[in-house]
Parts: sequence; structure tokens; C-alpha cells
Amino acid sequence: MRVVMVGAECAPLAKVGGLGDFIQGLARALAATGVEVQVLLPYYRGLLAEPFATLLEPLDEGLSIPLDGAVLECACWRLRVEGLDCVLIDPAGDWFRRRHVYGEPDDGLRFALFARAADALLRRPGWRPDIIHCHDWQSALLPALQWAAADAGDPPARVCLTLHNLAHQGVIEPAVLARLGVDAGALLGPGPLDDPAAPGRANLLRGAIHCADFVNTVSPRYAWEVLHTEQGMGLQGVLQSHVDKFGGILNGIDDAVWDPRTDPLIPVHYGPDTLSLKARNGEALRRRLGLRARAAPILAVVSRLDTQKGVELILGGIDSALALSCQVVLLGSAPDPVVAARFAAKREALADCPDAHLELAFDEGLAHLVYAGADMILVPSRYEPCGLTQLIAMRYGTVPLVRRVGGLADTVVDANHSDRPVCERNGYLFEAQTTEAVHAVLARAAWLWRHHPDHFDRLRDNGMRADHGWRRPAARYLDLYRGLLGA
Ligand code: ADP
Repeated sequence: MRVVMVGAECAPLAKVGGLGDFIQGLARALAATGVEVQVLLPYYRGLLAEPFATLLEPLDEGLSIPLDGAVLECACWRLRVEGLDCVLIDPAGDWFRRRHVYGEPDDGLRFALFARAADALLRRPGWRPDIIHCHDWQSALLPALQWAAADAGDPPARVCLTLHNLAHQGVIEPAVLARLGVDAGALLGPGPLDDPAAPGRANLLRGAIHCADFVNTVSPRYAWEVLHTEQGMGLQGVLQSHVDKFGGILNGIDDAVWDPRTDPLIPVHYGPDTLSLKARNGEALRRRLGLRARAAPILAVVSRLDTQKGVELILGGIDSALALSCQVVLLGSAPDPVVAARFAAKREALADCPDAHLELAFDEGLAHLVYAGADMILVPSRYEPCGLTQLIAMRYGTVPLVRRVGGLADTVVDANHSDRPVCERNGYLFEAQTTEAVHAVLARAAWLWRHHPDHFDRLRDNGMRADHGWRRPAARYLDLYRGLLGA
């Protein structure tokens, strides 16, 4: 079986958040089962780390796609990275020579162009896969193009669409389609890209939900939430009308990348049988970030700082942790300048505090040390399609404190309030989006850390021993692909 993943991120080449981990992890796990997997990404010139840039091999397969009535040439590059076969699409011009992966005013056109080029490549003889697996809005034009071509008699590949975050849907002007030479007649007015909430515009994600052969979210609970609550962000109706091809598959984490027994980015290796060594990573973390040496639990936040992630509750959680005599480490990057300014002000206010450090950056290496050195991690998201930070934290014996929403609710079992056996309890849950609720959950966890460290270690141990690797989810995707192929 040949599967091509098409998306905007794949670690370690391009990663902004969990999407990068997802494509890397699923692709590697599928490849390990013998599936022929390839990942198609834009070539983010200037963002690709030097060691990878030097490994690129040009492919003969130059592509040309229509743009503004002329032809846009796209080079294709191949590289193998950590066992993964990746093809980078490189349109002539500055389309992907930017300072960021996302957040450019012309994102709609840039990624529609990427999807258009990917579609053209995957129609080439020898390139046509059995399954095209698209992710989020950035590749969402591709299912619509395949659907339109099937109507025109061109036998399509089977297309799977994974929804990682419905807040971003790729709502574009129809003129973008016209600029790319796409016959919008079949797709709009009326057509699958019509969006009742944005009359006259084209909604790429809505179109992909309609046109894909299967659609899934990255956790079962988020699948329910997007069907039945406002978390569907206006797509509840289209999802309900396609419920017969819709489901939720819980994400995994790459347990070779995220393994405290072998992680090259942490100073002291440890595992469930050598848990006492974890404390030495806590000491290293304190030294690196200038926290004083103290017998206090370290609360971590590792997050994109975005309203989705619960900005108020993160800020409130920092205050609560300090009031409860904990230490705090925050590693986060905020693309929105207003949010960035709030965290910068907090960092300023805590500049002389020996128990808190706010690192406002994206730093993969530091993230590993934070997971290894911290005792607890706070994830107070407003909504959370799956969430990987709580899974990674558990693998590193760091106890998650999370809001009961989406994939957080599917993966964290409360230490005190659960009908599940003690051996499955691994963290703390809270419901209300209030700083009081965050304070209460932190107080519960800090109390256990101080007064019953053996019980706290049991929570760590349960989290570390649980299997959150990709084998199980990859087997579910494989079943799904086989089902789509009628095998
Ligand atoms: P999302 O995809 O919504 O950002 P996830 O929890 O699914 O959230 O995935 C977040 C991923 O990004 C994790 O691998 C986490 O370690 C990483 N991450 C988030 N913020 C940072 C940061 N500031 N520095 C390094 N890694 C980060």
C-alpha cells in the first residue's frame, strides 16, 4: 500500500505544534508496518535547518501549475530524514521564503497553491498513491480537486482528511481559485466549498469534509464535541451530514523521540524503574533557568500561547503556583502580539522572582529538559483536539493538570475523582474555566507531592508505563485505509 501524507508540518523539518509531531509519528509508525509512506510538504526556504538543507536531492519531476494565466514552475526536492521519505514542493518566487510557517496575509493563496501542486504531482504516472492523507485546511483544496476530477472520469485515490483544529478553516476569496486555474464552477455556487457563514467565499476545510472518503478528528471526545457543540466552529452541520464517514482516532506520540531512557537532549536518563534519577533533571532545569534550589514541585507550561490554550488560566496558574510555594517554568511562543505583550509583562513582573522563569520562545531542546525536569504540567485549554504535551509529560513522569475537554479528557484520569482503577490514574482534571478551578487543582497536586510523595510517584509511574505510542493508533489508520480500499 502506498500512502502520501500532505500537510504543512512534519517534525523535525517544520514544526509549529502538534501537527508536526503527528505527521512524523504516524508516517514512521506506518512505515514500520511495511506501508510505503511519503510526506509532501512545502519547502520553507530559510526555515529548514542547515543539516537538512544540505541533504536535499533535486527530483527530475519539475511541476508547472497555472497562476494568473501564466505558468508557475515548482521544483521538487527529496530527502530522507530519520527513516522518512519526504518530498518538498518549491514554487518559484517567495511563496515559502518567509519568516514563519503560518501567519502571512497571503496564507490562503500560498497553501492553495501548495495543494494544487501536490495534486498535480500525485496525478503523475508512478506517483499516484492508494491513499492520500490530508491534514487541516492547508492541504484541504486537494480532496476537492480529486473529487472534481473523479466527476470528470479520472479515477481518484482514496482520500482521508484528519482535522487537527477546526478554528482554522481556510476561508478564501473565489478569486484565489481562479488565479490557480481551478474551475470553481463545480466547487462553488452551489458546491462543496460554499460556506453559509461566509457567503461568496470558499471554505476549503468544509469542502474537504464533503469530498474526502473519510474524515477524523484526533480524539474521540473532540469528534463528539465538534458534532454537538459550538466547538464545531460552524462546521457541525456539514459534519453531521457526513457522520457515516466520520470518527475520532486518538493520537500517539513517537516514543523513540520522546523517551527519557535515551533522550539525547536531557542530562540524566531515567525510566519507570529508575524514577529517582528524574530529580537530577529538575536540578539541571533549575540551574539552566536560574531558579533557586528548593524542595518544591516545579509546575511547567509548554505551549503555543494562544487563546485556545487558555491564556487567562495560564497566567492565573503561574500566580497560584507561586502562592502555593511551587516553582514555575513556562516555555511558550505567542504569535499574536497582544498575547505576547501580556506574557512579556508577566515575565517582567517576575524578573526578580527566584521561583519562576518564563521563556518566551520556541525551543525544542529546552522543551525536552522541561518535560524531564518538571513535576507537573498545566494544560488549561479552552478546547483541545488531542493535546500532545500531556502525553509527552506523562512519558517523562511529569503529572498533567488539565481541563476536562477534548483529547485531554480522553487521556488523563483523575487521581481522586475517577471510577477507573488506581493503576490507571495519572493526573488531575478540572472543569470550570476559572482561575479558582486552576488554583484548586494545583492545590490538590501540590498537597500530594508534599504529603504523600509515594502516591505522587505512583501517578508518575502510571503515566510512564501507559502505552501512548503510535503502534495502536497507526493500526487503526491502517484499518481505515484498508476499509477505504475495500481490502
Ligand atoms: P498544538 O498542536 O495545539 O500546538 P499539541 O499539544 O498538540 O498542541 O502539540 C504541541 C507540540 O509543540 C508539543 O510537541 C510541544 O512540546 C511543542 N511545543 C509547544 N510550544 C513549544 C515551545 N515554545 N517550544 C518547544 N516546543 C513547543
